[in-house]
Parts: sequence; C-alpha cells; structure tokens
Amino acid sequence: MKPARKQLLVVFLAVTVVPATLAGWLAWRLLAQDRIMAGERLREIRENRADEAVQSLSRALAALAQEARGLPPDAVKAFDSPLAYAYKPRPLPEAPALVFSVGEQAEFRAGQSEYAVAFYRKLAASPQPAVRAGAWLRLARTLRKLGRREEAIQAYRQLRAIQDAAAGGAPAPLAGQWAICGMHEETGRAAELKKEGETLRAWLDSGRFSLGRDIYEAYAEDAARWSGRPRPVVSEALADAAASRPSGAGAALFRGQFITWLAVDHRTVLLTPDYAARLLPTGVVRVRFASQAGKDESLRRAGETGLPWTLTIALADPGKEREAFAIRRQLLFWLFGLVTALGIGGAYLGWRLIRRELALVQMQADIVAAVSHEFRTPLTSMRQVSAALSEGRVQDEERKQAYYNALARATERLHRLVEALLDFGRIESGAMEYRMQALDLAAVVFGVAGEFGREAGEKGFAVHADIPSHPVPVKGDAEALGRALWNLLDNAVKYSGDSREVWINLSRNGTQAFVSVADRGLGIPSDEQREVFRKFFRGAASRQGRIHGTGIGLAMVDHIVRAHRGRVSVESKPGAGSKFTIQLPVEE
Ligand code: ADP
Repeated sequence: MKPARKQLLVVFLAVTVVPATLAGWLAWRLLAQDRIMAGERLREIRENRADEAVQSLSRALAALAQEARGLPPDAVKAFDSPLAYAYKPRPLPEAPALVFSVGEQAEFRAGQSEYAVAFYRKLAASPQPAVRAGAWLRLARTLRKLGRREEAIQAYRQLRAIQDAAAGGAPAPLAGQWAICGMHEETGRAAELKKEGETLRAWLDSGRFSLGRDIYEAYAEDAARWSGRPRPVVSEALADAAASRPSGAGAALFRGQFITWLAVDHRTVLLTPDYAARLLPTGVVRVRFASQAGKDESLRRAGETGLPWTLTIALADPGKEREAFAIRRQLLFWLFGLVTALGIGGAYLGWRLIRRELALVQMQADIVAAVSHEFRTPLTSMRQVSAALSEGRVQDEERKQAYYNALARATERLHRLVEALLDFGRIESGAMEYRMQALDLAAVVFGVAGEFGREAGEKGFAVHADIPSHPVPVKGDAEALGRALWNLLDNAVKYSGDSREVWINLSRNGTQAFVSVADRGLGIPSDEQREVFRKFFRGAASRQGRIHGTGIGLAMVDHIVRAHRGRVSVESKPGAGSKFTIQLPVEE
C-alpha cells in the first residue's frame, strides 16, 4: 500500500471507527443505567404496593374489631372454624349421685342386678331430663354387664336423645353415642362402628356442645380412630388460642397453626390462617407472614405497621411491570442498532468511494505515463530522421525517400494517437458525434485492411483479408468504423508474440454482418475476457510484457460499435490467439 493510501486509511478509521466505538460504548452505558433505573423503579412500585397492602389490612382488621364489639362480653369468636372445645364450657344440669345410690348399691351387689334394672327404669321415666339421663346411663351400664347387649344399646339410644342434660360429666347425646361406639368396637362390628363413629365425630366437630378441654380430649382420640379421620387441627389450635386468652392483637403458632387474634374489650376474635389470608389484598401483591424478606420482597414489621403480623410483600406479577421497561430497552437497543448499522453502512460506502477515487487517481497517473510513452517512440524516430535529413547526412535518394516514409509513418502514428485521445475525451464527455450514412462495409474493411496491411507489412506481418466482392450495406460513420477496425488490427499485431499473421474477415448472415479480426498471439485469460472492453483495463500479459498501450482502445471500439446498434465480442485462448468480432445490422 502506498503511503498516501495508508494515511487515508488511518484518517478514515479515525473518523468512522472511533465515533462508532464511542457511540457503542455510550449505548451500552445507557442500557446499563436504564436497567438500574428500571430495578429502582420496580422497587419503588413494590414499596408503594406494600404500603397499600398494609393499609388495606389495617382497615380489614379495624372492621373485625368493630364486629367484635357486637359480641357479648367475654365472648370468643373464631372466624372460619369452630373452636374444638370451649375455654369456658357452658354447664349442663346433672343429677347428683345420691339420687341413684339405692340402685347403685344393688347394681354392685351379687344377685341384685334385676332390682337395680327395675330401679333405674323407674327413674328413667322422671320428668327431669338430668334424672332421666343419669338413669339411662346407669341402666345401660347394668344391662351391658348382664350381657344384654341389645337392651343396653337401646338404653344408650335413649340417653343419646336427651338434650340439655349431662351424664357422667358429658352432654347426654355425646355420652350415649360414645358408649354405643364402644359396644360396636367390643363386638367387632366394623360397619356400624364406622357409621356411629362418624356421627360422634361430626357432633364433636360441629361445636354445638360446649365441651371443656378434658371431655373433648376424652372423646377426640376415639372419634378420630373410629371415624378414620384425623383430629381437626385448626379447630383445636383455635381452642388452644382461646384458652390462652391473649390480650391485644397478635399472632402466634398454636399446635402448628398460625392464629391471629384481636382482643377487644374482653371479647376475643380469633382468625384461622385461611381467614387471615382472605383479608390480604390479592391480585397485585403476594403477601407472606414471615419475619425476613427474600429477594424482590418488601418487609413490613409488625412493630412499624401496628398489624399483628410481620409481612413480606412481593409483586404478584413483576413480569408485567418489567415489560414496560423491557419494551423501552428494546426500543433503545434497536435504535442504537439502526444508528450503528447506518454508521457502518455509511462508512463502508465512504470507504468504497474513497477507494474508487484512489484507483481512478492511480489509473490517471498510469494513463499519463502510458500516453507519454506512446508519444515518445514516434517522436524519437521523428527527431532522429529529421536531424539526419536536415544535417544533410543522407545523400542517397533512395535512402532519403525511406527516411521521408519513416517520417510520414511516425507523423501518422502520432496523428492516430492524438485522434484516439480526442475521441476518448469526447466519448467520456458524451460529446462524441457520428456522421451516420449509408455505406458499403466491404469497402470500409477493404480500405482499412489495405492500409493496415502496408504498414504491418513493413514490420514483417502478413494480413490475410477475406472480404466478399459484393457490397455489404450498413448505416454508419465510415471513419469511426475504420478506427474501430484499425484498433482491433493494431491489437492483433501488438499481442501477436512470435506469430506474424493476422486475419481480417467480413461475412454476412442474413440481416447481420460480421467483421472479425483474428491472431495467433498471446490470447486472453478467460477471467480477463469480460474486462478487456472496460476503459483503462490492461491485461496482465500486456503490463508484464511491457507492451505499450493505454487501455482505451477496446473501450472505444465497444462505444463505436454500440453507437451503430451492433456489438463486439471476443473468443480467445491463452497461447492460441484471439478473435474479436464486430456484429452490425445490415441495412439494404
Ligand atoms: P491497450 O492499449 O492495452 O492495448 P486495449 O483497450 O486495446 O488497450 O486492450 C485492452 C487489453 O486487452 C490489452 O491490454 C490486452 O491485455 C488485451 N487485448 C486486446 N487485444 C488483444 C489481443 N488481440 N490479444 C491478446 N490480448 C489482447
């Protein structure tokens, strides 16, 4: 690469690559900044949503407190699930043991069971439910001990039907049901046991009996076993919470359950975890009862919010919020991509333009050198010949004539050269004019072949012309066509190498006339064949073989032939020679 080109490349890189790199770096920084800002903005949104969530929770709890004020004093209300047992059971009337003492004495003395049965039966008809309950319980017990199972079950069923009375410390229905289950278990009646066990279980779960913890515990395990369903953990946890009678507001684990309570003026409201979760705002946020915030979560401590819980809040759908940022980022990305692409495209085009310009400059320099060289040869011979003549060094008339001839040839060559250059200039500027007229192509070819043949003959070349004797009419500029032919012939001689023969041939094929000029010279490599008609193009062989030329000859031929609505083509084989053919339309 020449120093000027190198310099140009450096300048070019400086004005394109440096700003492009800078723009890229800026874009990258901007995107990074944007990402940080997006994260910050997302955090801000989450914090706001967290505050809103806390507010809505506070409102929900305030509404609950209001509801609690409507409860009777000292009441405990559990939301969403009954208490498994009451922290303060409602007492049920139970007949004192003294009422049954006569029967019991008989019951436990051998041989007097029948008396006891009769005694209890009498009491079982009492108008007082408490007495009836006590009597049925004892009657059933005695019958069971006597092995009178069916009767015993009947008695327990009677006991089970008594409302508002206790027997053996428990509400009569529960005591009856429990005993019936016990009897089915004893006798291994699985189907009945399951059915009755489920009833017992349903009664316990319903919370309709105000049981103390001890009674509940006495039945809970059996009910779970018989019904085949686990104990109700939530109800039991709520009952435990109620039994501990917390004050104020708070949340704690009871039997593995997270229970929230509100204590309002001696009334207590208990919330199951499900119910508490239902108070939370849903949709926009995700709330957890937790004491430590995870990634993308905001923490709200109980101490700060006045809520009974410490919460962590996350956006339910952070993707939706992030989408807006992503779209903006994408837009920015594409914008930068576009700018960069345009920049690179522009730079590439610029570079190509500069390169072409440089090539042109180079070419022009080559042309000047080539043209000067072309001029030098005839000028040198003119100088020598004219000097010899003017100094009177040539005395012999015959030699004198030869010198004049040489002078004429050199002048003619110079003339041709100047004409060619002028023509080329005209072609380039679009000012070339052709004087079209009807003419005989055979005559034109004949004339050029003759004139060229004489000149080439002096250099030892034989020009074989094959021209039909009848006219070949075409419309054209005889002088321009002659120059084109001359150019082809001149090339044929120039690139003949060791061969000393060229051929010119005119033929007609219907409406087309063909003039071909062939040689057996150097030939043209196939990759150059397409190029030879380009202006300034010079083949590798001509450049390396130092064959003088300007590279405009064939370009001119092409231009002239086109102007005549014809075309010129080449067939060639390196080492075997070339054949250029001009095709022109015949015009009768
Ligand atoms: P130049 O002044 O170089 O002869 P031309 O335009 O006449 O310019 O020809 C262009 C190139 O085509 C030549 O440099 C040469 O490489 C090739 N060329 C033209 N005619 C012939 C030929 N008859 N045989 C071999 N090569 C040729």
